[in-house]
Amino acid sequence: MSPTRAAGLTRLVAFTPKMGRAYSDSRNHDPGPGKPSSVSALSPYIRHRLITEQEVVAAAIAAHGAEVADKFIQEVFWRSYWKGWLAQRPAVWDAYRARVAAGLAAPPEGYEAAIAGRVGIACFDAWVQELVETGYLHNHARMWFASIWIFTLRLPWELGADFFLRHLLDGDAASNTLSWRWVAGLHTKGKHYVARAENIARYTGGRFAPQGELNEKPLPVQEADPPAPRPVPDVAAPPSSPVTLLLHEDDLHPESLPLAGLHVQRVIGLCCPQARSPLGAAPLVQRFVAGALEDGLGRAEQHFGVPAGRVALDDLPDILRRESVVMPEAPVGWVADALRPYRVVPLRRPWDAACWTLAGRGFFPFAQHIPRLCAELVLA
Ligand SMILES: Cc1cc2nc3c(=O)[nH]c(=O)nc-3n(C[C@H](O)[C@H](O)[C@H](O)COP(=O)(O)OP(=O)(O)OC[C@H]3O[C@@H](n4cnc5c(N)ncnc54)[C@H](O)[C@@H]3O)c2cc1C
Repeated sequence: MSPTRAAGLTRLVAFTPKMGRAYSDSRNHDPGPGKPSSVSALSPYIRHRLITEQEVVAAAIAAHGAEVADKFIQEVFWRSYWKGWLAQRPAVWDAYRARVAAGLAAPPEGYEAAIAGRVGIACFDAWVQELVETGYLHNHARMWFASIWIFTLRLPWELGADFFLRHLLDGDAASNTLSWRWVAGLHTKGKHYVARAENIARYTGGRFAPQGELNEKPLPVQEADPPAPRPVPDVAAPPSSPVTLLLHEDDLHPESLPLAGLHVQRVIGLCCPQARSPLGAAPLVQRFVAGALEDGLGRAEQHFGVPAGRVALDDLPDILRRESVVMPEAPVGWVADALRPYRVVPLRRPWDAACWTLAGRGFFPFAQHIPRLCAELVLA
């Protein structure tokens, strides 16, 4: 998978005809790695904003109309919903990070066998291998995997989420942490996702049939309730021109940033995939993220007609003494954590501003707003 916007756009164009009825009818089927699939595999591109949510939703509406592409559009908005939910409860991310650090310092029994794909449940072991080799798993496989990890293997959900984050090319603080919480029964309190052998056999086309191997009657995980939501914090007003634009792995489409007339004098870029976990990130992930940043810097150089190049986090204090620096806002996650000590002014995209404030409760109240969000953010 090439980490460029051009490759993302090629995939987008190729998948657009399948965003309508074909997607809603067949998206739950996981034919296995390397097989033609009814899902897009666009997530590594959307997650790093090599292509934007707006572009993907616009393609779906143009090709099929909002009604027919409804399911696909809803899935794209799940990402925005999760980011907004976490923006309103950053303490959930902090608690997750602390528990991963503690869990990895003294891993529970069974953990090493699980991440090595040696638990003896054929589907689970195959998904470990697929994840490690390709950096991707189908959504349904992620759900089954997380459910087996939590309820059959009885391992802490945080360590499973950490394993995903280290290997997924689309690894994303909000989508990953909150999807694992959702499977555990912590998002919608008491409603957990139970992987069943019959369901796995049906949706893998019989590739797997773990009859009698799964705990199909578990209780949801119990934890204290998350904190009450806080309003999404405002972002500071941008400084006066000229500015240096800092690009990072959370948002690599500088061409569409809301710069409001700011004059960009140069572009710098940094990425920190190793900060995904105390154990860093898989080489596949590191290469994808570094390549995506290079691609973003190359396009920024052309778009703004200014020099663009990578810097290290340690260079930032010096740069900030001389230059006003702005960046696309980093949502709650490891990039925001790494940049927090520095006075870099975030630019919030209208997409994020509109979606995040609506994500205080469940997805279904949020989803009521999708037609209006499409009208205002995509069709206007
Ligand atoms: C336990 C678990 C962990 C997950 N971790 C991540 C993660 O780290 N990063 C990540 O991007 N997604 C994560 N997901 C969500 C989802 O599985 C992937 O986004 C999806 O499988 C990506 O494949 P695709 O591009 O083929 O999706 P498609 O079905 O083609 O969907 C189109 C786009 O919609 C978005 N999308 C679809 N489903 C979801 C979803 N449930 N939540 C959020 N966005 C969605 C993605 O941007 C995706 O590219 C996780 C899901 C689970 C159950």
